[in-house]
Amino acid sequence: MEDNNFRKGDAETDVFGSNVMLNPAPVEKIPDSPTTPEIAYQMVKDETFAQTQPRLNLATFVTTYMDEYATKLMDEAINVNFIDETEYPRIAVMSAKCINIIANLWNSPESNKWKTGALGIGSSEACMLGGVAAWLRWRKKRQDAGKPFDKPNFIISSGYQVVWEKFAKLWQVEMREVPITMDKITLDPEGCIQLCDENTICIVAIEGVTWTGLNDDAEALNNALEEYNTKTGYDIPIHIDAASGGFILPFLNPELKWDFRLKWVHSINASGHKYGLVYPGVGWVVWKDKEFLPEEMSFSVNYLGAEVTQVGLNFSRPAAQVLGQYYQFIRLGFEGYKQTQFNSMSIAKYLHKEIGLIPCFQNFSQEVVNPLFIWYMDSEYAKNAKWTLYDLQDKLSQSGWMVPAYTLPANIQDYIVMRIVVRQGFSRDMADMLLGDIKSAVLELEKLEYPTPSKIATQNKTPVKNKIFNHTGILSKDKNTDKK
Ligand SMILES: *Cc1c(COP(=O)(O)O)cnc(C)c1O
Repeated sequence: MEDNNFRKGDAETDVFGSNVMLNPAPVEKIPDSPTTPEIAYQMVKDETFAQTQPRLNLATFVTTYMDEYATKLMDEAINVNFIDETEYPRIAVMSAKCINIIANLWNSPESNKWKTGALGIGSSEACMLGGVAAWLRWRKKRQDAGKPFDKPNFIISSGYQVVWEKFAKLWQVEMREVPITMDKITLDPEGCIQLCDENTICIVAIEGVTWTGLNDDAEALNNALEEYNTKTGYDIPIHIDAASGGFILPFLNPELKWDFRLKWVHSINASGHKYGLVYPGVGWVVWKDKEFLPEEMSFSVNYLGAEVTQVGLNFSRPAAQVLGQYYQFIRLGFEGYKQTQFNSMSIAKYLHKEIGLIPCFQNFSQEVVNPLFIWYMDSEYAKNAKWTLYDLQDKLSQSGWMVPAYTLPANIQDYIVMRIVVRQGFSRDMADMLLGDIKSAVLELEKLEYPTPSKIATQNKTPVKNKIFNHTGILSKDKNTDKK
């Protein structure tokens, strides 16, 4: 059919009575002519119908529910570009207020009125900024001491999120991995120290490890580093990647020392759009003090007598998320965040307990420290099972649930696990529906006479074609998927 029919449809034409709806949607070329907004809207909207409902997407950490007022505020700011500080100075100040609030949640010792931090499009940008700052600080010291500065490295557990691989490659900083094993399921402080040398720009500890939901022991790392730095005279700092944990720990586990209370923690990032409870994309990075932010990274803007420091990799970006974040702080307050995170955590613990009771499954860890957890198939059961968790993932997707199955990182890559991330908007009722669907899917899978393709592939140790997931944030290292 001809493309120039695209116009056929006017204010009186019913959307589905129009010529346009008989035409294929454009794939390669822009249509010759316009069509009505109603028709264009319907066509674009309908293309997304076959996708999961975001709130049934238990693979993502990213916010899929905000209340009506938050949504209204964000919609109303949809035409505001954050970078236009001169035209929208209030938003720059609002962002600085958010940084203050977050810095104080993380026990910042900084005495300046405006705490040192930055807004990013997500934790990815925030991690990059934290990493770059550590690298530039290290480089300056090396330069000042007349020492070579061409071989920087940083240390992180093999449970890192893919952004750190990008950081390593884009900035040419060697990434040294401390393996996660079944004995050491989080970052091993001693393992870190063994990898340190004069070229180490920082050690990254993760609060809310993407793969497992667990927290690295930042306090133990800090202690080990204190001893090492004292002995060697180095001053290797810690960057905390608290993409998820940064908005969980302050509310649910305020006693745990993971933040600026620790001497060597010089910077922390978190995703405002994960447990910060804002729609994508917003991330935050905060430095312990102005002195830890290299000058070449910061732009000072003077607004009505207030010094607003601006740092970022990006230029133009939407401002709506800043309004969304500030709204959530005002709307919920400390108590409201605590209640919301408490509910997510309670539902995660409930699911963890119930899944642990299903005979064919085993939880990866006994504890649930963030509102997410992983489990795997009981090894005895797996010997005779005709299916794998990939098949369960497939079955659940037929009921609309997205529950990802994937393999763990190097050293424990033989474990196929499944993960559930519980977020605001996931109720106990939904958890029960999910459990019901998991149980009936298992019953069906147990009736199989022959092994599934994924079972055969797993037995033969050949890659499983996992067609569904490419946005869990962990797949670049997942050798069992065809998506990089
Ligand atoms: C999600 C995540 C990131 C990346 O954050 P985005 O907000 O998706 O850019 C980095 N590190 C960890 C530990 C994460 O969980």
